[in-house]
Formats: sequence, C-alpha cells, structure tokens
Amino acid sequence: MSDAGPAPETGRLTIDLQSLATNWLDLAERARTAATGAVVKGDAYGVGITRAVQALAEAGCHTFFVAVPEEGVRVRAAVADAAIYVLGGLVPGAGRVYGDFDLRPVLGCRPEIEEWSALRREGLRTRAALHVDTGMNRLGLTLGEARKLTETRNFADSLGLSLVMSHLACADTPDHPLNRKQLAAFRAVRTLLPDLPASLANSAGVFLGAEYHFDVVRPGIALYGGQAVNGVENPMRPVPTLEAMVLQVREAKAGETVGYGAAETLRRASRIAILGVGYADGYHRAAGASDRRVGASAFIRGRLAPLLGRVSMDLMAIDVTDIPGVARGDWAELFGHHVALDDVAAHADTIGYELLTSLGRRYRRIYLGGSD
Ligand SMILES: *Cc1c(COP(=O)(O)O)cnc(C)c1O
Repeated sequence: MSDAGPAPETGRLTIDLQSLATNWLDLAERARTAATGAVVKGDAYGVGITRAVQALAEAGCHTFFVAVPEEGVRVRAAVADAAIYVLGGLVPGAGRVYGDFDLRPVLGCRPEIEEWSALRREGLRTRAALHVDTGMNRLGLTLGEARKLTETRNFADSLGLSLVMSHLACADTPDHPLNRKQLAAFRAVRTLLPDLPASLANSAGVFLGAEYHFDVVRPGIALYGGQAVNGVENPMRPVPTLEAMVLQVREAKAGETVGYGAAETLRRASRIAILGVGYADGYHRAAGASDRRVGASAFIRGRLAPLLGRVSMDLMAIDVTDIPGVARGDWAELFGHHVALDDVAAHADTIGYELLTSLGRRYRRIYLGGSD
C-alpha cells in the first residue's frame, strides 16, 4: 500500500464553526431573557451534527432539539449534560431509548401521552415536552384537548413535563395574520400550564420580537446562516461554503449549445468552465439555466459566473467568458460568502433549508474553528 493520502476531491464543503457560534450568540442576544436552544435536526441542517453541537455547547447552548431519537443519541454522545428534545415525539414502542439516553420526547397526541404516562408509572424518570398546536395543524394537541387533559390532577408532574411548546407556521412573513392568532392561542395554552417554561419561536419567530420569545427560543436555519425572514436583509453569517473545482476550460462558438437537452444556446463565442459538482452532490438540478430561464451563479476569481445549461449528475458548466485567467484546478464558490445560499435555493424554486439538508456525502468536509 502506498501512503498517497486521501483521494483528491472535486467538491469541498467548508463549515465555519466560529460563525455558527457567533450566530448562536447573536440570536441569544436578540432573545434577551429567553434561553436560546438550537435545532440540530437533519444532521444540523447538513453541516454535521456532532461538530455543530460541540461548537454550540462551547458557545453556551444547553438545549438541543432534534427530529428523531437517532439524532438525539448523537447529540448525547457529543454533549453529556445537554437537555435534548425529540420534536417527532415518542416513537411507538421505543420508550427505552429515551430513558437510556435521557431524550425528552415532545408529546403531541393522546395515545402518545398515554404511552409515555405508562412508562413513567413503570419508573421512567426522563422528562418530556408538551406540544399544543396553535394553527399549523402538524404535530400537537388541539387547544381543546390540552384544556381537557390539563384538568386531570397532577398532569404535568405525572408526565415529567419540562416544557410546553407550539410552532409558528408563518413567522417568515412578519405581517401574516396567523402570527398574531397563534400568539394569542399560545398565551391561552400557557395559562393552562403556567408553571412550565414555554417555547414558541423558531428562527423567524426570534425576529418577530419579544412577545414571541417566551422562555425558550428554538432557532434552526438562522444558526447556519440561512434566511429566516422573507424580504429583509439576512443579518446572519454564512456557515457552510460549497466549492467546486474547475476540471476543464473550453471555448465554444455562438449558436452551439451546452449540456443535456441542448437546453441553452450560446448567444456569443464563449469560454466555459466545467465544475466537478452536480446534483448527486445535492446541488439542485433546478438551479441550472436554459434559453428560457437564468440559472444560479458561481463565484470565481472575484467575479460571478452564471451557470450555462442544465446541471448534470456530477458536473455543471459556468460562463467565464468575461473572467480572465480561469484555469483547470481553480475553485469556484457555489454558495457561501459571495453567493447566498438562499439565492441558489431561489433559482431552484426551493428554500435554503432543502439545499442544506440535501448536501451530498461526496465532498471533503473541512471544519474551521471549534475544538477537535
Ligand atoms: C425545524 C423546527 C424549528 C426550527 O425552525 P427554523 O425555521 O429552522 O428556525 C423549530 N421548531 C420546530 C418544532 C421545528 O420543527
């Protein structure tokens, strides 16, 4: 065997843990008296749950929210003393794992509450949260169900409740009337369980102002630098930077076409750089270009270079006609400090969340900051 080192890669993902910590501190500052948790589901929005959780814990975060128990187990391995809430609740029949790893299920329907209650009666000491729906119609008890259940004696103690929460459906649109409706409904929820810490706000909810903060805020996307609120400047620092290597530079004539389906016809003689990242790496195919629509751009040698034609599985083409000096082996930024994640997402008719959580496994991942 040779000691050639790791195989070279044509795509690399740099994750700035220092910026992640700074974003958390920024949100904590905005949330003032509320405790600031961190939502780390979806492998911490694609950036890597273990390193993300370690960096956040070092910044002072004690409360983590995951979607499923498996993610909770990984958070527990990274931070021994964290409070970990599983947003998906109690997976039927899987009570043991919650006890073994001290994972707190977010309970949101009656059968689930009954199952948890039975486990508690059998001696399980793990805490839990209660989710009451206030207008999202996803998870959570109805307000009516919550009213009824909370009339039972000792309700919060028997379940070991440590949090009552709800989730905003439209916080990214500050003027949406559902925000105030949900706020009013959540205030009513709170009167049912006045002694429990309460949590309503996701990232966008933090920006809605103090009345939405209650005791614990649950930011996700803003931690990772994504756009939380529509139509305003994004104040967060980018955390992931995705780059692709130039594999080839070629010249093509006006009237020739680029890529599959001949979707884009060159309007001028062009220099084209071919990059070694495609949709198999999670760069969405829909962000590509055609004669009818402008695609996303990459950033190379200090300039923006628009995509040309469709994104292939492993490759994409960019127009570098006006950018002198681009050469094989150069790196182009696909998103990060110069190309906004949400800009690429918008060109692909999706949101930054989906782009991040679909990032492929083929990249070399480089972590900046944080401790090893
Ligand atoms: C995903 C999620 C969050 C975080 O939302 P962001 O918009 O990413 O800040 C908060 N609470 C719940 C219940 C969630 O599912």
